[in-house]
This record gives sequence, structure tokens and C-alpha cells, in this order.
Amino acid sequence: MECESCGMPMATNSEHGGSDPTNTWCVHCCRDDGAHLTFDEKVAGTMEWLMSEGCTKAGFPRATDAREARARAESLLLMRPYWKTHGPK
Ligand SMILES: [Zn+2]
Repeated sequence: MECESCGMPMATNSEHGGSDPTNTWCVHCCRDDGAHLTFDEKVAGTMEWLMSEGCTKAGFPRATDAREARARAESLLLMRPYWKTHGPK
């Protein structure tokens, strides 16, 4: 099963938000109690990742500034099934 928010494969219970295997979102897209993050919170977290080394390690070019990171974060998230229906209009 893949996270509906970011597409990360969730192989073990601990990769599901709140370690709940019925949660359709991964641990990175949820608060500790398993509650979903908002679109703005996901954009902020994805921007941070795009500007970090984790991004280059995952094989993506690192964003050079916040403006580029925001544009890429929004387009990445809006490709996911969840945000297609729940994203900003
Ligand atoms: Zn996720």
C-alpha cells in the first residue's frame, strides 16, 4: 500500500501514520497521533526536504531557493490522488 498523500510505500505498520495499519497515510504525512497534516503543512515539509541533502540522496536535484522548492512541492503533492480531490482550488 502507498501513502495517499505522498506515495511512499508502507511495508510495515510503523510506516503508517500513528503506527495504525488502517491509516492510508504514512508516518511522514501524519502527526504522532496519526492525524493527517494539512496541505500547507505538507508543502512546508516537502519544501524543507527539497532543499535538504535527503533530496539529492533520493536522486532529485536540490531546490536552490524557497520559491523553486514551493513550486516543486506543490506540483509533487498535486500529483497524488488525495490532493487531486482535497488540494487548494
Ligand atoms: Zn506520506
